Parts: sequence; structure tokens; C-alpha cells
Amino acid sequence: MTPRVTLICLGGTIASTSSGDRGGVAPNLRGENLLAGLDQEALVAQMDVIDVATVPSWDLNFEHVASVIDEIAKAVARGSTGVVITQGTDTLEEVAFAVDLLVDTRVPVAFVAAMRHSGSPGSDGPANLRDAIATVLDPRARGLGCIVVMNGEVHHAADVRKTHTSSVGAFSSPDVGPCGWIHEGALHLRARSSHGLKLHVEEPASIRTPPLVRLGIQDDGWWLDPVRSLNSGLVIEGLGGGHVPSSIAPAVEELAREIPVVMTSRAGRGSVLTSTYDAPGSEIPLRRAGVISAGVLDGIKARVLLGVLLAQKASRADIEYAFARCGSR
Ligand code: ASP
Repeated sequence: MTPRVTLICLGGTIASTSSGDRGGVAPNLRGENLLAGLDQEALVAQMDVIDVATVPSWDLNFEHVASVIDEIAKAVARGSTGVVITQGTDTLEEVAFAVDLLVDTRVPVAFVAAMRHSGSPGSDGPANLRDAIATVLDPRARGLGCIVVMNGEVHHAADVRKTHTSSVGAFSSPDVGPCGWIHEGALHLRARSSHGLKLHVEEPASIRTPPLVRLGIQDDGWWLDPVRSLNSGLVIEGLGGGHVPSSIAPAVEELAREIPVVMTSRAGRGSVLTSTYDAPGSEIPLRRAGVISAGVLDGIKARVLLGVLLAQKASRADIEYAFARCGSR
């Protein structure tokens, strides 16, 4: 029997062509156009194409995430072997991580995008799309969770980041590397393990992400009052191992007693420290005051995870558990 793959399209560079005489490109291709760019003989699946949006990914929001979740549920119900989602690269790591948290299925879900639009030499969209389809058709992809397939590599959604503005190799998993790659058209898996955390939100479209504050030298905490007035939560990208200037540490600790305050690191790799420093502003007193460690999750992912948990009205214990589980890879 011919396997079925559902292709869900959101726009992005992979769907972009010249928009006329303005000199640039913009998303305007639909799913059927993306499939037309592939070698039809090599396309071994029946493709069900769903165009959810045709927008740049800086315009994606949780309504789009909710639509994607609905479409994945429908795809699973009609017996799809796998789901492939195309979108822009700018927010790919966030959408993929949100869907990874909110969708519980063994059917492989692969996000894919392009760094070069379809009219540019060496456009990477068709090869990436072909690789993503091959990946979700491979039985070993079952149960992998959400993955990102780019530039011949496969990354777990929780690990991957866009780490270059224009390279075709823009996506990497700085802490753990790719979990697999595509070689001669076939999937090679190096590692299977993902965090495995699944969360349920009644209305994903209602998710609101909390503020994310990146600290620098001599930060004076001007953002503390605006953040307090929102009364939701806060993600800090702290200095080094997750530190704040001692001058603002008492105010951060006070805030952490009122709302969930999650600490990540602006360093880009490695986990937030838990037990090395005890000077004011460092991890030991911050943790004692209730600041929650995000482990290896970066600020962008912690913001998504905390947004999902706040939408669930999760308890402090549940928030700590979720970050411990996702952040300890
Ligand atoms: N640079 C982006 C892309 O790769 C534009 C976007 O994110 O939509 O698709």
C-alpha cells in the first residue's frame, strides 16, 4: 500500500519567490508548488497537502501552532505514516519545540525549511523537503518526537537552534549535535533520546509567552517593574552560568517569590550552573530564593516552555519538573 504523508505549509523562504519590482522575495508558493519542485518518480508517498498559512515566520503565532496541532491530529486519524511541516527558519526552533511539547503521537513529525529561496542558485528547499519526506517514511523515525531536517541533518526539536543568519548549515544542536543525518537518501540515526515531556493545553491558540530578558554588564534592572506588572512569569538569559549583577539580585529574588522566574544562560552552550558559586547574584542564592534552572534550554525555548506551562496554570512543582526534564539532556 502506498504510504501517506501529510504536508502542512506555513510559508517562509522555502515558499518565497520574487514579489515583483520591490527587489526582494516573499512567501507566495503553496504546498503543491513545493512538491512540484521534487523528482516525481522518487516521490513514493501519497501526499496530502494542507496550506495553513503563507507568511514569513516572524509573523507566526500560537494560532498557527494550534492549527498545526489540529492538522497533525487529522493526519494521524487518516493513517498518515508521517507529517512534514514547512515554514520559515526564523522561528522554526520555537514552533517545532512547541509542537513537540503539545503533540503526543508516535507518527514522525518533521519540520523543514530553506535558507535560499527557490529562485536562488543552490536553493536548498527541494533537497531539504525530499530529505524530510524520506525521514518520516523511515520506520525508525516513529516515536522520535518532533524533529528538524535541514542540510542533510536531523535534529531533535528541543536541541536545535538557528545559529547563522544565512548559511545553509544554519541549524545546529550546540549541546548534543544532530541526532541523525540523511545519507544516500536514507535516514541514519545516531541517537533516539528526547526529553519525552508531553503537555496538554485546552486552547493552544491562547498561549502567551512571558518576557525574556537578556542581561549584560551593569544591567540596572529597569525591566523588573514592567515585568512585575504583567504578573505572569519571566525568563532571564543570565550572565555565564546563570548570574545577575549583585545590585539587582535582591529584586530578582523577591520577584522569584511572586512569579515563576526561570534562569537560562546567554553563553549559548552548556547548562546553567546549580552549585558552584554562592556570591550574591550567583546560582546558589538565586536557587534558594526560588529561581528555576532551565538546564541546557536556551532563553528562546524556555520562553516557549514557560508560556505553555502558564497556559496550563501549572503549579510551581510542575514547572520545576518540566524544566528539570527538558533541561537535563
Ligand atoms: N529567513 C526566513 C526563512 O528562512 C524568513 C522566515 O523565517 O520566514 O524562511
